[in-house]
Order: sequence, then structure tokens, then C-alpha cells
Amino acid sequence: MENNQGVLVACHECDALYRREPIPVNARANCTRCGSVLYRQIPDAMNRCIALYLAALMLWIMANSYPFLSLKVGGLVEENLLYSGGWALYKFGMPELGVLVFLTSIVFPFVTITGLLYLLIPLRFSHVPPFRGRVVRVVTTLEPWSLIGVFFLGTLISVVKLQDLATVIPGLSLFAFAALLFVYSGARANFDSELIWADKPNLREDGLGGSTSVVNCHTCGMLHLRDTHPERCVRCDAPIHFRVEDSLHRTWALLGAATLMLIPANLYPVMTVTKLGKGDPSTIISGVIDLMHAGLWGLAFIVLLASIVVPVAKLLTLSFLLTSVRRGSQWRPRDRTLLYRVTEVVGAWSMVDVFLVGMLAGLVSLGFLATIEPGIGATFFGGAVILTMLAAHSFDPRLIWDGMVSEEDDK
Ligand SMILES: [Zn+2]
Ligand SMILES: [Zn+2]
Repeated sequence: MENNQGVLVACHECDALYRREPIPVNARANCTRCGSVLYRQIPDAMNRCIALYLAALMLWIMANSYPFLSLKVGGLVEENLLYSGGWALYKFGMPELGVLVFLTSIVFPFVTITGLLYLLIPLRFSHVPPFRGRVVRVVTTLEPWSLIGVFFLGTLISVVKLQDLATVIPGLSLFAFAALLFVYSGARANFDSELIWADKPNLREDGLGGSTSVVNCHTCGMLHLRDTHPERCVRCDAPIHFRVEDSLHRTWALLGAATLMLIPANLYPVMTVTKLGKGDPSTIISGVIDLMHAGLWGLAFIVLLASIVVPVAKLLTLSFLLTSVRRGSQWRPRDRTLLYRVTEVVGAWSMVDVFLVGMLAGLVSLGFLATIEPGIGATFFGGAVILTMLAAHSFDPRLIWDGMVSEEDDK
């Protein structure tokens, strides 16, 4: 503990520098400038994290071994496994979408969970695991793309939507998956990246040598002096940059591409429901209207929010932030940072429609009774969501603060 005297920490959203002071148990230290969380004090965080990630791993194995959902029509029972949704998309000639569903709902969560266990268990016994930096980099890259919660919501919506078509029987895997969602979120909430780097504390106050300009490693939070910083982080070996390189241009380009993708995503059908030989293609909007006609207002609202309101709001918000940074705007930097944070968190929930289509297609292949086939609109929509997520990642919120002129003395 005394080893941590004068250790520094930089806010990853506005780059303000702080001394890492001891704080009460269960408390959070927030950045006084932009309000984002700097670090937390979690009692016994190491053991808690290991226990939760071990439980998550077990639930993941269960979720992948037992039946997920079964459909019953007359005497016909159709059993489905967790990966059926991704597999159905693949089979219907939409491999890219199938792979996307498979990766974000099954593979990435698994890699994140096992990667963290690989790091934490040896460190718990004071051993440094080989390739620590590399594993940390893989985990931090994949974590934002582990969409367990979004996938679960898509599954629940598909269950409700299928009520009138067949009897839906939840399998053991579905319950394991629901538990996985809770345990995984709990594990993430208890995790602090300093757990992994206890033996390599961050830069200290006396190491600054009068300089206040530092480069913050985006992967592990290690600080380097701006003037003499190496190409790669001294702690985790990730490439480091003072700011995300060419952030404005890249974000604009990704936003433009996402906007283009949203047009066909809304014009082409996302799926075709064939009942008793009669096909009925539906677009995102007509899907929402169908839900309303069926009296499922809550679901209609969720799908409308996730598939139309969120993507459009995200495009507008990021465009606004980009324009404000380019103009050197002085307007409410704290609120603009908050706006960015919300955009980044909410964006992934738009994927719910893609998971829904995959799930429905995977579940409903009852021969002549009914089939649900994914449509090309879903691929465009999935592409648009991925592009907006990438755009949000490539925007550097610290640019908002770099443009502030008279802000230095309100610490
Ligand atoms: Zn801050
Ligand atoms: Zn690093």
C-alpha cells in the first residue's frame, strides 16, 4: 500500500491528472472536471472477481451444452441450441451476419471471461502470467463487443413474438444464460485494471519532473511523459498516442458510411415470415407496426427505440460533437462529455434487432407450417450498427477539453 504514495491517475475522458488517494471502501473517485469515474475502492476485489468470473465460465459452459429454446406446434417439437440463431443466418446465405451474432453472443464473452481468469488467478498468488500485456490488450479490445445483455433482450422479444405461432418452451440453457448475464455484469462491476498491475504501479508525482503533459495508455491507464514517451506502453506494450489518431476524420468517415447503410437497412425487408406457403416480408418499420397491431406496445416501443431512435440519435449526437470540437466550442464541456458517454454505452443495444432476426430464423423452420427467413435489410442494419459503434470508439472525448480556453483554474 505505502508503495502507492503519490501514484498518479489520468481521467481517460478528459486527461485531467490526479494523485491516486486512498478512498473509503465501496467509494468511487470521480473526475472533478468531467465527472467520469477515475477508480473505485472495492473490498477484496481480487477474490470477488475470480469467483464471479469462474461462475460465469461455468454458466457459459452450461448455456452451450443444454437446449436453449424449443418450439412446439401440434406434435412437432423443434429443439434449438444457443448458437442456432447464428447458424440459421449462416445457412440462409448471410454468413457475415451469422458470424457477427456468433462472435458477439458466444465467442467474445468466452474469450473475455477466460482471458481475465488467466490473468487474475496467477496474480492472486503473486505470479505474473506469461504474455500478460498481450492478453490484457485482447480482453480490452473484445469486451465492448461482448453483447450478452443485448442478445438476451433479442431472445426475450423473439419468445413473445412467437407466442401466436407456436408454444415456446424455455430450456435449461436459457436460464443459465440469464444467470450468466447477471454474474458477468457483476464481475465487470468489481473489476479494476490496477488489479492486474499491482506489481507495476503507475507513474508517480515525482516522476513528472515539472511536466504536466502526459500520454495515457488507453489499454491499461499507464502514464508516460508526453515529450519523451515511447511508441508502445511500457506496461502493456499497446501502441500509445497522445490522442486517438486522426479522430475527427475517421469518425466522420464512419458516420457517413453508417448513414448510407441505414437507407437500405430501412428499405429492404429484415425478414420474411412464411406461414402456410404465404410469404410476408417485413422491414424494420413494418415490424414495429405489426407489433402494435398485435397489441404488444411495450415490445413495439423497445424495437422502435433500439432500431430507429437510437441509431439516428447516435448519428446526430456524434455529428454535433464533431462539429463542436472543430469549431472550438466552449459550450458545456461536461455535458458534451456526458452525451458522448451515453452514446457509447447505448449504441450496442441497437444490435437487438439483428439478434431478434437471427433467433427467429433459427427457431422457426417448421417446414410448410412456417419459416422465418432473414432478409438483406438485416445485413445492412447490422453493418450500420457496427459502423456507428466504431465511430463512437474512434471519437476522442479529450478533444472536447483540449479546445477549452479558460478552464485551467477551475480544479
Ligand atoms: Zn475527466
Ligand atoms: Zn498500457
